[in-house]
Amino acid sequence: MQQLNVVWLRNDLRSFDNAVLSSAAEDGARTGAVVIALYIATPKTWQLHDMAPIKQDLIRRRVKQLQQELATLNIPLLAVEGSSYQQIPAVFKQLGQHFLLKVFVQSEYELREQQRDNAVDQAVLALNGQFIRFDTQCIMPPGSVRTQQGDIYKVFTPFKRSWLAQLKQHGVSCYARPKPVAQVELKLPDFPPLKAGDNSSAEWPVAEQDVLQLMRAFCREKVQDYQTARDFPAIEGTSKLSAYLAIGVVSAAQCIARLQLEAADSWQQDKSGAEVWLSELIWREFYKHILLAYPDLIKHQPFQAETAAIRWSNNPLLFKAWCDGMTGYPIVDAAMRQLNQTGWMHNRLRMITASFLVKDLHIDWRWGERYFMSKLIDGDFAANNGGWQWAASTGTDAAPYFRIFNPVSQSEKFDPNGDFIRFYVPQLSKLQGKAVHWPHGAGTANGYPAPVVDHGEARKHTLALFAEVKKKA
Ligand SMILES: Cc1cc2nc3c(=O)[nH]c(=O)nc-3n(C[C@H](O)[C@H](O)[C@H](O)COP(=O)(O)OP(=O)(O)OC[C@H]3O[C@@H](n4cnc5c(N)ncnc54)[C@H](O)[C@@H]3O)c2cc1C
Repeated sequence: MQQLNVVWLRNDLRSFDNAVLSSAAEDGARTGAVVIALYIATPKTWQLHDMAPIKQDLIRRRVKQLQQELATLNIPLLAVEGSSYQQIPAVFKQLGQHFLLKVFVQSEYELREQQRDNAVDQAVLALNGQFIRFDTQCIMPPGSVRTQQGDIYKVFTPFKRSWLAQLKQHGVSCYARPKPVAQVELKLPDFPPLKAGDNSSAEWPVAEQDVLQLMRAFCREKVQDYQTARDFPAIEGTSKLSAYLAIGVVSAAQCIARLQLEAADSWQQDKSGAEVWLSELIWREFYKHILLAYPDLIKHQPFQAETAAIRWSNNPLLFKAWCDGMTGYPIVDAAMRQLNQTGWMHNRLRMITASFLVKDLHIDWRWGERYFMSKLIDGDFAANNGGWQWAASTGTDAAPYFRIFNPVSQSEKFDPNGDFIRFYVPQLSKLQGKAVHWPHGAGTANGYPAPVVDHGEARKHTLALFAEVKKKA
């Protein structure tokens, strides 16, 4: 029986620095196995995970593009329209009727993904095949960064210190793009072909070279100002690579290798733009490490157990006002409209809107976590859960519960000219000066809603909610 090396792609939709692809190709060259790539869309499971339509579209567009890119390596990409994870073992069983399978995958850390991989592993094993996992989603695989006592870090700063020590020791290396493999005529079983998406992500380029170009340009031209520019949503001061990191069009290793090249003098300098950007990439890893170590997080449990008892008000009308960008707090509304209209939101605004939902509207952070997931092009379970739990003061490095963002002073500080607000809230576009941050003085502007809550009162209520559970704990 012909051996088939199957590169089962999931969140690693790239041909450069892809351990799975390179290893399968290398193995094929050595053993004479035929190499194919496989992608299986699972819209039913995506729905279960609240995956945003814009993210689904980005994936579909990227897979079609990758099909062309892998064709230049003579590696056919079999792109299959499936439905749920439960169906996937059957795809491998069908392939296994014709070929001896060696399946190469990058490990994933969420619960259903682990169950899916275990089921496929069993199915492939039963066919006398092999299922080979590569732990390459992070530069330092989860579990590999530990305290001297061998424990997992629960706090970011010592994790980062230890992570950086490992980086200095081992450096960062990227897999080369594989060389073209020998061309073979292959008859594969018929599967339903991948459907096209709704094109909602059309503004996001999907060619690998274009994405690498964006990453390189950021490291060359923008990273030196990142430590200051990153906090101002009216400025394009961040990389906007999150959507590509989430589905693996670019890897964290590629980002850091390029950063070290372009910012050789400054990336180790405390609080330089390059060092702060590197920190953000380490945050990404931190949350993935935490997720694997604490599987209850995947079940949406708070990291700080006592906060599960907080008596949230969960008012559906206030939740709707927040979702629609109609709270009467301009910076919150502008941010939510950015999310609804573009599928992306600036980090500073993610912090402000998350804090507002939890600490001004007293709505369970899980409602917000879910809403973000259903809209974000870069939706990533670990980063989203980590971000929400941070903002809600229920997580690992959580903001202390008594530190509550004032949405108006945040607005004055981080959108000082009101440019971002005016862009997304046209009702306020004519307001000048400070009025744009709080337009409720002399008659509300242009049908813009009155504030749905009083921040001062809401703040007191939040302190009481947390005090109640902290006292019991
Ligand atoms: C409530 C909340 C929800 C969030 N949800 C997500 C999410 O679903 N997906 C997601 O990728 N990020 C999420 N973040 C983190 C962060 O807001 C985004 O990664 C960032 O805004 C993406 O923009 P960028 O690519 O320009 O980031 P840059 O500032 O250029 O940072 C580079 C990369 O580092 C990573 N990163 C940056 N900040 C963080 C962080 N705080 N935590 C983890 N990784 C980080 C991202 O991969 C990002 O692309 C969330 C943050 C909060 C507060």
